[in-house]
Amino acid sequence: MVQSVAPQRSVLEFADSRVREWVAKPHRMLIGGQWVEAASGETFPVYDPATGEIIAHVPSGDAPDIDRAVAAARQAFEHGPWPKLTPSDRGKLLWKLAELVEQHAEEFAQLEGLDNGKPVQIARAADVPLAVDLFRYMAGWATKIEGETIPISVPVAGVEGTRFFAYTRREPVGVVGQIIPWNFPLLMAAWKLGPALAAGCTVVLKPAEQTPLSALRLGELVQEAGFPDGVVNIVPGYGEKAGAALAAHPGVDKVAFTGSTEVGKLIVQAAAGNLKRVTLELGGKSPAIVFDDADLDITIPGVAQAIFFNHGQCCCAGSRLYVNKKVFDTVVEGVANEAKKIRLGHAFDPEATMGPLVSQEQLERVSGYVQIGQQEGWRPIVGGQRYGNRGYFFMPTVLVGENESSRVVQEEIFGPVLCAAPFDDLDDLLRRANDTIYGLAASVWTRDIRKAHTIAHGLRDGTVWINCHNVFDAALPFGGYKQSGWGREMGHHVLQNYTEVKAVVVAL
Ligand code: ADP
Repeated sequence: MVQSVAPQRSVLEFADSRVREWVAKPHRMLIGGQWVEAASGETFPVYDPATGEIIAHVPSGDAPDIDRAVAAARQAFEHGPWPKLTPSDRGKLLWKLAELVEQHAEEFAQLEGLDNGKPVQIARAADVPLAVDLFRYMAGWATKIEGETIPISVPVAGVEGTRFFAYTRREPVGVVGQIIPWNFPLLMAAWKLGPALAAGCTVVLKPAEQTPLSALRLGELVQEAGFPDGVVNIVPGYGEKAGAALAAHPGVDKVAFTGSTEVGKLIVQAAAGNLKRVTLELGGKSPAIVFDDADLDITIPGVAQAIFFNHGQCCCAGSRLYVNKKVFDTVVEGVANEAKKIRLGHAFDPEATMGPLVSQEQLERVSGYVQIGQQEGWRPIVGGQRYGNRGYFFMPTVLVGENESSRVVQEEIFGPVLCAAPFDDLDDLLRRANDTIYGLAASVWTRDIRKAHTIAHGLRDGTVWINCHNVFDAALPFGGYKQSGWGREMGHHVLQNYTEVKAVVVAL
């Protein structure tokens, strides 16, 4: 085993003093504008994934806390100043929140590094600016959520010449429960809060138990921005406790979930009690497809980034690589070389381009899948094992094989593990690319625009990137076909998730 890249001292020592002090303070949950302890008084530990050391304790929310938070959100939705605010006022609050997050960008980047393990330089370049941009984009939408006037033709029996004026209103769906994962903690909070608040909903947000810190800091900025009490409530806690209580709560009008497909199905069942609206952004097993006419100088680093960005802990990670057999060896060798160039290190190591996996559980899961792959005919040509003996580091891994019914090809690993296989025939390629329960994303790498678009149209995926991968924008809808989810995040499409359409008919 290679030497550990975990720091010998606490990673907290690398953080700015204000971040250290913030992490060290007692943490509470945000309910109705107050920072409170869990009703049970219980807390849970937050780990630094680079060392496994406990860096903080946060209150462990459970059903009674969810009850309190939902009541606060209901109160704010129906009676507080929030429903009286104009759309423009809501937009200004969101814009202000964007500004505050931007002012505290470095602090957020460091918190993400401490909590999730990702290199701070990556959080600086991606997570934080994307979150800021999302809030700004949604600030603009607050004033543009419009209904329609609709000409209707219905005759009224016995009343000649009756005329109607009909129009629709798009009203906020109500109290929203939002449950988010740990891979982009701040950004996922922004994806969820931005559209809900633009639409005029109130929210109970449950961050992932692995990474609650940036959501709690965001809660402080929500208050500083001036959102009325109870509009945003933040309840950290375990999925089976706080998450399950939120998904099942009869006082919640809609639940928005991002996470695994497995838990997504539990959310659907829990939501059935009061038929709350449900949107789901779930797992993926996204193919990256490389043709022999692709520009390999951009394709090889591109498909390596597709899988290795954020340690493969992306729902849209390009985890299945299909390469035309003429260039298979060249591309796979190139990707393996890219993997070897990746510097594993803790979040504050300026040379690090990849951090540890988020938890011991993820380390075991990813290691377990690589072992299964090997038993099922997949051969690692690079990586394939844990890195060092401290922290949750795992080597970027490329597996080569043919058995596509293997679990490593069919199931989401959520780690830096790529399965590469050659293809020859185009129709067969499409069949293989679509032969999955997932349908989140894909990328196509070729210089031939006809082929690129033909394949893009044939893929059953919510996003298809051509000669790129993992490109996100607040304006671009993102979400899955098949078991990758229900509904879309971002763009104006997401606003449909947070509004009900009301038809109003006037007899003239
Ligand atoms: P991952 O497998 O990537 O950790 P999960 O789907 O388990 O993703 O978790 C995503 C989010 O769902 C987290 O906030 C987690 O606490 C929450 N969660 C897990 N189990 C449940 C559940 N039974 N009900 C509601 N939320 C849950």
